[in-house]
Amino acid sequence: MTTLTSFNPATGEPVGEVPVTPAAEIPALVARAREAQRAWGALPAQARADIIRPAGQAILDRKDELAHLLTTEQGKPLADGLSEVTHCGEKLLTEVDEIAEAVAPRDLPGEGLVTTLRYDPLGVVAAITPWNFPMLMPQWMALPALVAGNAVVLKPSEQTPLIAQAWADILNELIPPGVLQTVHGADDQGKALVASEVNLIAFTGSKATGQKIMAAAAGGLKRLILELGSKDPLIVLEGADLDAAAEFAARNSFRNCGQVCVSTERIYVQDTIADAFTARLIEAAKAYPAGDPLAEGTVLGPMVMRAQKDHVARQVADAVARGAKLVHGGADMPGNFMPATVLTGVTQDMDIMRTETFGPVAAVTTIRNADEAVELANDSEYGLGAVVFAPEPLAREVASRIDAGMIGVNRGIHGAKGSPWAGSKHSGIGYHMGPDGHRQFCQVRTITRNA
Ligand code: ADP
Repeated sequence: MTTLTSFNPATGEPVGEVPVTPAAEIPALVARAREAQRAWGALPAQARADIIRPAGQAILDRKDELAHLLTTEQGKPLADGLSEVTHCGEKLLTEVDEIAEAVAPRDLPGEGLVTTLRYDPLGVVAAITPWNFPMLMPQWMALPALVAGNAVVLKPSEQTPLIAQAWADILNELIPPGVLQTVHGADDQGKALVASEVNLIAFTGSKATGQKIMAAAAGGLKRLILELGSKDPLIVLEGADLDAAAEFAARNSFRNCGQVCVSTERIYVQDTIADAFTARLIEAAKAYPAGDPLAEGTVLGPMVMRAQKDHVARQVADAVARGAKLVHGGADMPGNFMPATVLTGVTQDMDIMRTETFGPVAAVTTIRNADEAVELANDSEYGLGAVVFAPEPLAREVASRIDAGMIGVNRGIHGAKGSPWAGSKHSGIGYHMGPDGHRQFCQVRTITRNA
């Protein structure tokens, strides 16, 4: 049997291995899921929530061990690994009930009739997940599907199979066999899963892979939820709190080495405050030295793999060759490590302002006014998140003109409970979270009778 080895991106050493699922076996696995789904889907959603809920505590009980595994496999600092694991455990405890509530049937009274609106399971859901939040993403894609009564076949990224498998194992202690299965491997396994008899594909990853999945899903008209790339802008205008804006810019450019779908990837700062902002940003960047992710106090670990670092280094070199100024970081480091880097004088035509970077780079452009900022911010094929730092009411007015799914005003994009995780343009199709996000794992049906 062939195996997939997972390597520690900080040291290059193997962390563990999983058996690769032969692509030819995937249709049988999906058939098994369909069989298991029958009884699972027949339970009330609240019963499914009750069965899964103890997984939250089980994750929390093992949080240190899981965080250690997550960090050794993915490279994010241990404190961030722990916060991802803790978030998964805590969130799961209440989210199962929120999903059950969202998909509960409800009656719509009419003139002499009553319509029952049902959110029924679709059947088998394929969840194909990335490596940047290697435990949270499986939970995001699989948990609503499961509580909604679907069976799930999860294919985690080949970069981070171990932590995803650990998450699935915890749930499999509780749910019937076959309801949640894992497929390990790379593109061939992803392709075979997409080609199999699944009803919905929930994918988070690159735009290029999303497009391949969409094309492959067309024949069977399979339903899709795609969360793809982005190139999130940050706009900083005169009168903004520059300390807060610079601190946010650094944190949101460097967190998880920039390997976050809503990382700040483009910074548009008004010319009148550009020097003051950049000075603060450089100061803030000094708080992100790259180091051993397992060591206490580290805030910037290695990038997940060499190819990712090379892509980022190439974009930085290209920007510098075309006139951008490297004002912090940039020097090469060994292995997968990449320093927190600040560039100024970046222009809209450079690759670093157009193609997703997914690296620890803050790229700064100066603009003359709010209109120019909005125009350049919207000049992207993507539109997941965007953030504006400016005095009110200008900040809100600018925010309303930005074509993105999630916009933060003088703060990050994370919304109040119930907010969906949504993108516009090529950042995705469909969305996650909140009652409407959860319902996307359902077949909507209405049954109308006489009153
Ligand atoms: P990244 O998140 O590194 O940009 P990709 O978008 O390439 O990664 O891949 C995300 C996930 O999609 C991974 O689990 C990968 O194995 C899987 N995958 C890659 N190619 C395909 C494909 N053609 N069909 C389905 N899944 C794929």
